[in-house]
Amino acid sequence: MTTRQSIDTLLTHSGGNPSERHGAVNPPVYHASTILFPTVATYERSRNPATRFDVVRYGQLGTPTTFALEEAIAAVEGGYRAMLLPSGLAAVTTALDALTQHGDHVLMVDTAYASTRKFCDGTLPRRGVRTTYYDPSIGADIRTLFQPETRVVFVESPGSMTFEVQDVPAIAGAAHDAGIVVVMDNTWASPYFFPALARGVDVSIQAATKYIGGHSDVMLGTITTTEALYERLRSAVAELGNCVGGDDAYLALRGLRTLGVRMDRHYRNALEVAQWLCTRPEVARVHYPALASDPGHAVWARDFTGASSLFGVSLAPVPKAAMEAMLDALELFGKGVSFGGFESLAIPMHPAPYRTATQWQSAGGGPYIRLHIGLEDPADLVADLERGFGRLRAAAGGS
Ligand SMILES: *Cc1c(COP(=O)(O)O)cnc(C)c1O
Repeated sequence: MTTRQSIDTLLTHSGGNPSERHGAVNPPVYHASTILFPTVATYERSRNPATRFDVVRYGQLGTPTTFALEEAIAAVEGGYRAMLLPSGLAAVTTALDALTQHGDHVLMVDTAYASTRKFCDGTLPRRGVRTTYYDPSIGADIRTLFQPETRVVFVESPGSMTFEVQDVPAIAGAAHDAGIVVVMDNTWASPYFFPALARGVDVSIQAATKYIGGHSDVMLGTITTTEALYERLRSAVAELGNCVGGDDAYLALRGLRTLGVRMDRHYRNALEVAQWLCTRPEVARVHYPALASDPGHAVWARDFTGASSLFGVSLAPVPKAAMEAMLDALELFGKGVSFGGFESLAIPMHPAPYRTATQWQSAGGGPYIRLHIGLEDPADLVADLERGFGRLRAAAGGS
């Protein structure tokens, strides 16, 4: 292939070759631990270090089902190769572990996913690795925080709790000038709306549990990287014993096929609901970079090709019980963490304890909730939220 195909085409066609599986459009699900070799010589050949991650040798190291998903993810992310992990969090922690050693230093965005922070505060210090948290708005000034021991700058844009957009190309430029690797948690946008490697990121991580799986039925993480970092990351993934079962790999690949159409619809629906929320007196602020009023809008519009359907809502001050009255009786919004499935979700969030370099306060000082807008008709979602605001006002003692 001479020119890179469009992401829609890659989503549809990458990941194995039907002619190598009896013409089946989708790969069969291999349930395998032991792999049998016909002869000692074929077994010995499978141990060749140069190809040890590319052959079916032992279930933990992959099967044709997992290889098909890896190939598709690498193509869609525009990376050299991809690796699968049992969760998005395992992808984050394994990448950080692989890229650091005793004495090293990591720069972590202050708005990172809470469990990413817990790893930096819990496990990394036991490995002798220090973390400094930085303001997500830092841009190229990230270089003022570089230490001789800094090995990784970790970005998550926008943050999946409070939705600050980062200037990833500027951060990557500064990091690369200093020989520092840039790792991104790219779960919010998915590869469909943010081509992380093309924006200067060296290692793109997906919690494929979210939009890639897309159906709230699978836990899976992916790491996609460049040729330069592949061997190091792949070795760590294998050494730490990460592996993914065939059924989960199959579900994620099946989800990936429709990522584009789902993301386009998620985006359209979310924008409609977010714009409606902006008109409501019960709302102090909507935190969604696709809105022109959002502080991250200009950078988002420059670097992203769309927005996912996860955003924050700062409510005007009301008692907690009023917020609960609103959320508890919503009919279409489930109450649950996670996102990326076809169904809408609403959940209160408490970001303040997860900040050290910056401060978080919900705009207006009221409760803060996070919405995931699913594939329902947005008019029905708006009606559900409107009834919710009625309950909120009633519980708050208003009209
Ligand atoms: C959910 C999530 C993760 C972790 O993924 P799991 O598959 O739940 O372990 C990591 N980063 C972000 C931004 C997430 O939303």
